[in-house]
Amino acid sequence: MTRGADIATQVAAFVRETVAPFERDPRCGTHGPSDELVQELRGLARTAGVLTPHILPDGSHLTHRETAQVLRAAGLSPLGPLAVNVMAPDEGNMYLLGKAASAEQKTRFLDPLVSGEARSAFFMTEPAADGGAGSDPSMMLTTAVADGNHWVVNGRKAFITGADGARIGIVMAKAEEGATMFLVDLPDAYESGAITIERVLDTIDSSMPGGHAVVQITDLRVPADQMLGNPGEGFKLAQIRLAPARLTHCMRWLGSCQRAHEIATDYANRRHAFGKPLIDHEGVGFMLAENLIDLKQAELMIDWCADVLDTGALGTAESSMAKVAVSEALMRIADRCVQVMGGTGVTGDTIVEQVFREVRAFRIYDGPTEVHKWSLAKKIKRDWRAANL
Ligand SMILES: Cc1cc2nc3c(=O)[nH]c(=O)nc-3n(C[C@H](O)[C@H](O)[C@H](O)COP(=O)(O)OP(=O)(O)OC[C@H]3O[C@@H](n4cnc5c(N)ncnc54)[C@H](O)[C@@H]3O)c2cc1C
Repeated sequence: MTRGADIATQVAAFVRETVAPFERDPRCGTHGPSDELVQELRGLARTAGVLTPHILPDGSHLTHRETAQVLRAAGLSPLGPLAVNVMAPDEGNMYLLGKAASAEQKTRFLDPLVSGEARSAFFMTEPAADGGAGSDPSMMLTTAVADGNHWVVNGRKAFITGADGARIGIVMAKAEEGATMFLVDLPDAYESGAITIERVLDTIDSSMPGGHAVVQITDLRVPADQMLGNPGEGFKLAQIRLAPARLTHCMRWLGSCQRAHEIATDYANRRHAFGKPLIDHEGVGFMLAENLIDLKQAELMIDWCADVLDTGALGTAESSMAKVAVSEALMRIADRCVQVMGGTGVTGDTIVEQVFREVRAFRIYDGPTEVHKWSLAKKIKRDWRAANL
């Protein structure tokens, strides 16, 4: 067995046998699982030797292709990625810090993430009501102004996953030189009142601890050595994180849809209507057949894009194509699973209902489908002009 397949086998067994029984734990709230549950699951993962499985003991990272195998296995339960510490936004933040942080910054901000002790949050989007950054990050309103050996950050952010309870923040703000990223010790910022959580939004999804918060940033003083990269490099650094993070979402939710399909298949074989098992009704059998086709296409699209990223390319267009194809395929799969299971499909008795809600949100975050298609159309036009004018 290859290294990725070997780790994936261990992670899949852990998620199916140890994590899945926690899926109906009362600590899974509407704003995500509690930190107490997260730490309990991580303790079990640590004991099983599957905590943070995509980063090896020497600090090196699995290839993107190997990561695909492992994260798909982690996604077999919506709690799996949290348990083994490959969940968004921490996984993408670990990747970015691994590539862009200084040695001192890694010790302070990356190590607690890799060990699974701390959570992090990525502060980019701003409230639509303020006219701030959303699909178009260039609309960013949050400012960063140099003041001696510090930067002073002011603004409002929205949809900040996990901000409530996170220890490490990556905050994007506009300096004179352009968008810039800062590493922030969140407990300090909350305690001093420099960052306040206005509210945690009630959203369709419920898998991410801390939910998604609207926050106010007021005169947040960040020491200059907590800048990630250089002033004005924010969007360049965001590019390092964006394509792999998009793809890892595809990997995890593919695992969840695989499991939802297994649950729907089980239901269709056991449940009878009109004198035979549901699966023998062509309408149901065809839905499961279409799931199988979509699952395989999603897997191949992820592997193809992972191979591109493994060459060292940014994979901007490829990850846009993969994100659209996979998120839309997963939505079809989840919807069919609900349908095959009738009333049971819309209850919390299985994870099928949750997967349906989670995948709906995934068609929006990390770039809505239309924004990816729009950027691909721009590339098609650019390529046409280069070839013809
Ligand atoms: C569950 C969840 C978690 C999130 N977590 C984070 C987080 O941790 N940190 C963070 O910074 N942000 C986070 N976000 C925010 C997310 O990145 C934004 O929602 C996303 O970028 C879209 O921005 P918006 O919501 O302002 O939509 P808008 O910019 O208002 O766009 C609305 C719609 O307009 C359409 N549209 C926009 N531009 C185009 C175009 N060029 N062509 C065609 N159609 C277009 C799309 O259909 C889009 O869905 C999260 C969002 C969700 C839902």
